[in-house]
Amino acid sequence: MHSDTPIFQGQRKQLCEHLKSEGYASDKVLDAMNRVPRHLFLESGFHQHAYQDKAFPIAAGQTISHPSTVAWQSELLEVSPGMKVLEIGTGCGYQAAVLVELGVKLFTVERQKELVDFSKKMLKLLGLRAEQKFGDGFKGMPVFAPFDRIIVTCGAPYVPKALLAQLKEGGIMIIPVGEGTQKMVKIQKMPDGSFVQKVLGDAAFVPMLKDKE
Ligand code: SAH
Repeated sequence: MHSDTPIFQGQRKQLCEHLKSEGYASDKVLDAMNRVPRHLFLESGFHQHAYQDKAFPIAAGQTISHPSTVAWQSELLEVSPGMKVLEIGTGCGYQAAVLVELGVKLFTVERQKELVDFSKKMLKLLGLRAEQKFGDGFKGMPVFAPFDRIIVTCGAPYVPKALLAQLKEGGIMIIPVGEGTQKMVKIQKMPDGSFVQKVLGDAAFVPMLKDKE
């Protein structure tokens, strides 16, 4: 089993300080990121680069998000401990680990079985709890709805209706929308059930794909 070391801890702290100086997130989010050993989510050949602000390939042709993207999305989500949060696109489980470290009740969906198995193993290894599902993120997790927050970590061609329906009134969804590259969009569900959208900037995620069936 691989482990955390003072060298990785030092590199991680530097990365978090860099993300803070660039204004990506508040101390609350960066402290959570500082507690998650990102290198363990990567193949050993990438360990020495894990604390650079870079995306890396993971299994099933997917990627781990840039740390700056994880910081930014986590900040935009405005979570507090105990909130129910739905994540679409678990991948290797890094963003999931950061959200659980922030104290939320996490529900996360992934369509690649290999990554569901890998991320389950990783979260367990780190002692972090999440409800994980192998399935299609376009459908969300209706059994556990409504959610205080929804975070989509793959590029959505459009905002899935099922996800809007599963957002609590007063809730926030952060979703990169677009084909190819995307715009990060914040959607708030108002107390009367209407939605307010705000475009926040450019994003570049792997695409959100339709069910394989
Ligand atoms: N949250 C991850 C990012 C993973 S990359 C991190 O912490 O790094 C995006 C992930 O979305 C990929 O693993 C991909 O398989 C997944 N994905 C793509 N389309 C999906 C869909 N329709 N439903 C669920 N997951 C999907």
